Amino acid sequence: MTQLINARLIDGTGTTPVDGATIAIDAFGRITHAGTGPGAMPAPDETVIDLGGRTVAPGFIDCHVHFGLGHVSELLEPPPHWASLATFQTAERLRRTLVAGVTTARDLGGLDAGYREAVTAGLVEGPRLQVAIRMISHTGGHADFTQPSGIDIDALRPQPWTEIADTVGEARIATRRVIRAGADVIKVCATGGVSSPTDQPDDEGLATDEMAAIVDEALRHRGRPVAAHAQGTSGIRNAVLAGVTSIEHGYGIDDETIDLMLEHGTILVPTLTTAATIPEPGSVPDFLYQKKIRWSALAMERVAEAIRRGVPIALGTDSGVTSHGHNLRELAYLVDLGLSPMGAIEAGTRVAARLLGLDTDLGTIEPGKLADLVVCRTDPLHGIASLADPDNILLVMQAGRLVKDRL
Ligand SMILES: [Zn+2]
Repeated sequence: MTQLINARLIDGTGTTPVDGATIAIDAFGRITHAGTGPGAMPAPDETVIDLGGRTVAPGFIDCHVHFGLGHVSELLEPPPHWASLATFQTAERLRRTLVAGVTTARDLGGLDAGYREAVTAGLVEGPRLQVAIRMISHTGGHADFTQPSGIDIDALRPQPWTEIADTVGEARIATRRVIRAGADVIKVCATGGVSSPTDQPDDEGLATDEMAAIVDEALRHRGRPVAAHAQGTSGIRNAVLAGVTSIEHGYGIDDETIDLMLEHGTILVPTLTTAATIPEPGSVPDFLYQKKIRWSALAMERVAEAIRRGVPIALGTDSGVTSHGHNLRELAYLVDLGLSPMGAIEAGTRVAARLLGLDTDLGTIEPGKLADLVVCRTDPLHGIASLADPDNILLVMQAGRLVKDRL
């Protein structure tokens, strides 16, 4: 049982911050009171933490991470070392992400369900996880890592990323396979990509009817969300028409597809951190560098338009393709492209929780919800970029348990 007192409360609902707030948390890690006015009198054994007027916000949710990846170049090469080492590297990335203020994360390819279970069991510290496990792609598509030589790099990995489907029937079977492996979310490749050597973001990926079969199969299994990797215009449109829950990246979205997203209620996860991070020339293969320059510029223009038109935005970084542990950089990028600072916080809390289907328990600081919280050194509404530095996240609480305390 804990009470946080003297807090400036940003509750994640988008309402004006409240000064002098108290947040009371019960023994089950649930919030019993949040706001001004007296909470219950603290019991003698209760921990009381005085925040000295600092801002408390909901724990952030990153909807697009690859914890199994340390650098984008690892996607293009066979792993040089052991599965055990890769596991410990992943554990370190999970911990680094948690202390940066991310209390829940969705891994969209490359992590098996055992990591989720390990976090739940308290064997490793990290964000509460949802996992896609493998990415469903057609032969030669974004998640087919078979090189032109015929060597399949994916087959050499301890944890494969690829689930191939080339017909409507195979798309259903692929969905059932990843669900059998424990997937919380289904990841589909609706277009080619920037990091894949043999395709382009403008190439279409799975066909609309194949993705529609996947959406249907996901619906028949507890309504799991379907996340579509989609960068070029026509593939984004195909995915929205197929009924996916979120468009990941969305760099080349056109005006008509923005209309369609608004009509369907599709959420955009623009992964601006990755779009904006241009690697040093020479640090990655030239094809990747050239694609990145072109698609980064397009993303800034078209995502800004989607934000202006009111497409719902959820926070996702594609960390793994970029560095881990600076996830809240994304907030400043979202503000650069037109969201208000409060809107960016909602994208990382309330909207993200809704996308993950976790909004009954997470996403806002309200009675009845789990106490996932961060305390900021600075005022995020006047300098949102400061949250990118993990040192400015003073305290992190996950389901009522303190996992970082630098107050
Ligand atoms: Zn990704």
